[in-house]
Amino acid sequence: MQRIQSHLDPEFSLSRIAMGLWRLADWQYSPRETLRLLEELVELGVSTIDLADIYGDYRCEQLFGEALKLKPALRSQLEVVSKCGIKLMGADNHFAINHYDSSAAHVTAAAESSLRKTGLEQLDLLLIHRPDPLMDADELSAALDGLIADGKVRAVGVSNFLPHQVELLQSRLRAPLVVNQIEVSVLHSLPLFDGQLDFCQRQKMIPMAWSPFAGGALFTGSDEAALRVQACLEELSAEMQLEAQQLALAWLLKHPSAMVPILGSGRIGRLRNALQALSVDMPREAWFRLLRAARGRDVD
Ligand code: NAP
Repeated sequence: MQRIQSHLDPEFSLSRIAMGLWRLADWQYSPRETLRLLEELVELGVSTIDLADIYGDYRCEQLFGEALKLKPALRSQLEVVSKCGIKLMGADNHFAINHYDSSAAHVTAAAESSLRKTGLEQLDLLLIHRPDPLMDADELSAALDGLIADGKVRAVGVSNFLPHQVELLQSRLRAPLVVNQIEVSVLHSLPLFDGQLDFCQRQKMIPMAWSPFAGGALFTGSDEAALRVQACLEELSAEMQLEAQQLALAWLLKHPSAMVPILGSGRIGRLRNALQALSVDMPREAWFRLLRAARGRDVD
């Protein structure tokens, strides 16, 4: 599978499609079953694994680590991404309210906790999960540069940041912000129009697209936009002899920002099937038919 090379850090690359483990705890896989999933992903060329400290009520990093412990040699074939900066109330912590924390102390402690839970010596990529209105860019930059200097993190980036928030953090940081991970799908096409993906291209950041199937709503959602998209996918499926999920993925892959979609299904059959999209170059008219279905209006 083709890889996406960073222009900001020539030695940093991601697989063309990534795998998200947000829902890993829900799948209730044994460590061996999770390992099998990881092995099959690597065989398919999906080597980038997306995690966050908070996933699965703070359990997913540990579940991933338990699987990897069964076959440590697999580590060298993966790029492991994690995120921090959100504090969620839960059984194992005592926050009185869900909130963001981009302080140096929290980000450093969170990265170290991710290493402990996953059993890794270094994260390939650490992202600040959400823009924090109380972000002190000088303090956060020093913490991120420090994590890289200490070898705990290979590269850094952000998630859900708007262009001006990226610019502020980057203006203080020595290391390049190599990734912005944002929500993009046929049903969430706003980043194609509001400057977010243009900005990534201008800055040469790799966009990672979360919820590329709108969390499944593209296929099973019941609101008006989802129903219009499902009808359009059905028409295109019949015309192009492709399945709905292949079309939805091909729609993202067509974008010139070379975004990396993060698939979130735990079913290897579905993942393998979706990857057929890699050999599809969606015709422009089909691309715009899906856009029209999602937005409920023609282009001007
Ligand atoms: P997604 O691929 O849009 O949605 C996955 C869901 O869609 C699963 O519940 C899956 O069900 C369902 N699905 C997939 N194919 C289907 C099909 N053909 N028919 C019916 N349902 C189908 O991705 P996501 O899980 O929402 O997000 C992907 C990753 O993005 C996460 O794991 C996480 O790593 C990342 N993420 C990041 C942020 C952020 O703020 N940075 C936020 C959200 C997510 P099955 O499992 O049953 O197949």
